[in-house]
Amino acid sequence: MTLTAAAIYVAIVLSGALGVYLRYRQGACVLAHRERVPADFAGEVSLEDHRRAADYTLARTRLATAAIAYDAVLTVAWLTVGLAPLYAVAEQHLAPGLTRSVAVVVAVMLIGHMLELPFSLFSTFRLEAQFGFNRATPGVFVRDQLQTGALWLLLGVPLLYGLFALLRAMPDHWWLFAYAGAMVVMMAMIVIYPAIVAPLFNDFVPLADGAMKSRLESLLSKCGFESKGLFVMDASKRSAHGNAYFSGMGKAKRIVFFDTLLAKHSLEEIESILAHELGHFKLGHIRQRLLLAATLALVGFAILRWAFADGGLAAQFGLPDDPGLALIIILMAGEPALHLLSPLLSWLSRRAEFQADYFAKAIVGKEAMVGALTKLSRDNLATLTPDRLYWQFYYSHPPVGARIARLNRPAPGAAPAGVD
Ligand SMILES: [Zn+2]
Repeated sequence: MTLTAAAIYVAIVLSGALGVYLRYRQGACVLAHRERVPADFAGEVSLEDHRRAADYTLARTRLATAAIAYDAVLTVAWLTVGLAPLYAVAEQHLAPGLTRSVAVVVAVMLIGHMLELPFSLFSTFRLEAQFGFNRATPGVFVRDQLQTGALWLLLGVPLLYGLFALLRAMPDHWWLFAYAGAMVVMMAMIVIYPAIVAPLFNDFVPLADGAMKSRLESLLSKCGFESKGLFVMDASKRSAHGNAYFSGMGKAKRIVFFDTLLAKHSLEEIESILAHELGHFKLGHIRQRLLLAATLALVGFAILRWAFADGGLAAQFGLPDDPGLALIIILMAGEPALHLLSPLLSWLSRRAEFQADYFAKAIVGKEAMVGALTKLSRDNLATLTPDRLYWQFYYSHPPVGARIARLNRPAPGAAPAGVD
């Protein structure tokens, strides 16, 4: 075994162990606080709801622990005993060339997806169902799987052909062109996703006329957002979890409310949720996220360049020198690296969430925002007592207690009282 291969194996195992350890901490912390509602929520959340949230978090944490351990074993199995025989089959049936490289990548992805399927089935039809969240029928589940797979093939196969063709045509500079191509695809997806991809899975209807719409529209115009951008999505088709999100850019930008969210919140709370989403828009968070993705992708392509070089990554594992194999290995080796980056990425995301909360507070006041956050976390059975290290590592949104504590503080740089 070469040093590079050994380092990759060690990284995969350590990353898996870290993932299991952090979930163990999360489980222990939630269990330790199961019998008492935190003081800040004493009036808002009943002990019964608090216990249910703890049980839900524990069940999900256990499932995630099993999935992480399974994933690490599977990755090591691919690298040690899986890829060589799979490649031998491809060699028998396909001449050396682009098609063989693409076929190997597609086969590994499909088999990998099949092997993960028991976890998604268990999660949807046992765990989520047990806590009353699942609304997806087996029919919806199967259709989702087939549609996602078809989309992935439709987009992924041409991109893989393009990547490997570029590599062959320009052995020295392919990665810069590939990077430029990836950026074009990313920008196109931002426009295509809300308009074409998301509607394949859900219905999006403009918010119905009425008191709510006119109130929300005046908030939109106050923030300089075109009023065509408000949509309601039939999330209740799959799950009872409530949420709202912001997507797209330029003319394609829209704010999407889950129907499950509209059903449970007061007008003031929905207004505060909209104000929060507008905060993301006004404060340039979408642009920041894109810039981050573009930077990470550049690093990714630089690493791919090294992996594809002569006697590159595949050879380190005693595998034939095929860019398809090198790409698979890089994707597998990239997971531990991304795992180590997750505290930084989560922190950046949480910082943006705090900023959007401040923005909402300045527009609609504190009370509605606090009410919305409390209700959202209660209805989604989010734990109020996560482990500190765990949430610092993984939470894209700050724990609800921290968000409310910040809302209760004066905003940084806020105008002194009495000044507009
Ligand atoms: Zn947000």
